[in-house]
Amino acid sequence: MNRTFQLDTQSPTGNPIGGGANGGVPKGLLKYIPESVQPLFENPLFSAGFGLIGVGAAATFARKGFQSALINARRYCFVSVEVPSHDKSYHWLMEWLAKKKQKSTRHVSVETTLSHHESGDIVSTINFVPSVGSHYILYKGRVLHVERVREKNVVDMASGNLWQSITLTTMGFNRNIFKTLIQEAQEMSINHEEGKTVIYHTQGNEWRRFGHPRARRPLNSVILDDGLSDQIIQDVQKFLNNSQWYTQRGIPYRRGYLLYGPPGTGKSSFITALAGELKLSICILNLAGKNVSDSTLNQLLSSAPQRSIILLEDIDSAIDTNPHQLEEQQDANGNVVYQYQYNSKYNYTAPASNSSQLTFSGLLNALDGVAASEGRILFMTTNHLQKLDKTLIRPGRVDLTIHMGLATSYQINQMYLKFFPNHQAQADQFESLVASETVSPAQLQGHFMKYSEDPMDSINHIKELIK
Ligand code: ADP
Repeated sequence: MNRTFQLDTQSPTGNPIGGGANGGVPKGLLKYIPESVQPLFENPLFSAGFGLIGVGAAATFARKGFQSALINARRYCFVSVEVPSHDKSYHWLMEWLAKKKQKSTRHVSVETTLSHHESGDIVSTINFVPSVGSHYILYKGRVLHVERVREKNVVDMASGNLWQSITLTTMGFNRNIFKTLIQEAQEMSINHEEGKTVIYHTQGNEWRRFGHPRARRPLNSVILDDGLSDQIIQDVQKFLNNSQWYTQRGIPYRRGYLLYGPPGTGKSSFITALAGELKLSICILNLAGKNVSDSTLNQLLSSAPQRSIILLEDIDSAIDTNPHQLEEQQDANGNVVYQYQYNSKYNYTAPASNSSQLTFSGLLNALDGVAASEGRILFMTTNHLQKLDKTLIRPGRVDLTIHMGLATSYQINQMYLKFFPNHQAQADQFESLVASETVSPAQLQGHFMKYSEDPMDSINHIKELIK
């Protein structure tokens, strides 16, 4: 049988392509066509084209019908749920899908997460998550269609990132299956985080989890001066247990802490350990970042996840010009005193930092923000207290200022014992060789790590530390 179309001959059925004997158009129909154009229809080429148009139109019609039948089937026979990426459950769902589809899917995309080790190393972990597109999974005996979408031109206003979502679809009328699935994903995520500290960093205007939750750092691994650690913990605990006190007095329920001192004295480590101890997460914000504007900061401070500590690290680096600066002076007895001096260079419209769009008044407004989330715990750290303006650290913005200095004799002794437990005599000897407040705890840690094999090694090599 001839399966090729020939324009001026027969169709595969043997009939003329238009179907009629008269070059394609049936005779009956021809009488309705004006006489002036009838010769056109007698032309086999023209009538074949006319026939093809008819076939095409019928196919389009059938396709449209099929599509609308599909749409109706979807509308009436399927249920679906869309989870946008700015919703908390998106993260749980992605984790759940990654686990569920780890073996079954061949189409994955890579998500690399970075985590900081206590040693300061950054470790990357590679995870496979379902790629953008369609996937099918079997869940509780039902087939679920999973569609992961990343729009190219639509921006999520909340985060400033491209819009992403996951849509789950299944047959039936009951949407409870989605609720069960998301709850399961949430439980899986919580179990995974049990005993860990969740770290958030910023992305655009919103907080995003950073890497995998970190194993909680034991509080006693950060050795502060005698009693200091307890003092801070008690203060935070009292705050967390006293919401009524604030509400009854109409005081905004928030508390600010400032840790200041040289680098390597445990400011960041202590805050991380404190969060672990109190089962809080940490939201870390670098104010010196280019993308932090007044409104971004305001939004971030008022939208931090519940039960978290907000940490503004190296707060001085965000501030370029302050109206008042703390200056070191000597009093009549030769004692060092700090006094605020007006900084004539200050200009209220000047940006807080050269590189960012944050202004000093914007920073103060954000700290005072009426929209601040309830129960906000804010920690700020700085290596240079004298660079901070006094208006920034007044009560209400900073309620407790804590000095973390170079290691005191107490810290030297305790850190030795941390590395070499039950060697009290050597700890005392070591302590007597290192003058108080001459080395930082980070330097001590480095020395003990280098000579960790034998408790006497760190004493024998003490010159390397105190040179
Ligand atoms: P800072 O934030 O003050 O610059 P970090 O918390 O980053 O200091 O500490 C740097 C390193 O030194 C960390 O690895 C930490 O374990 C160690 N370290 C610093 N201070 C202490 C301390 N007081 N007790 C135990 N370890 C400390």
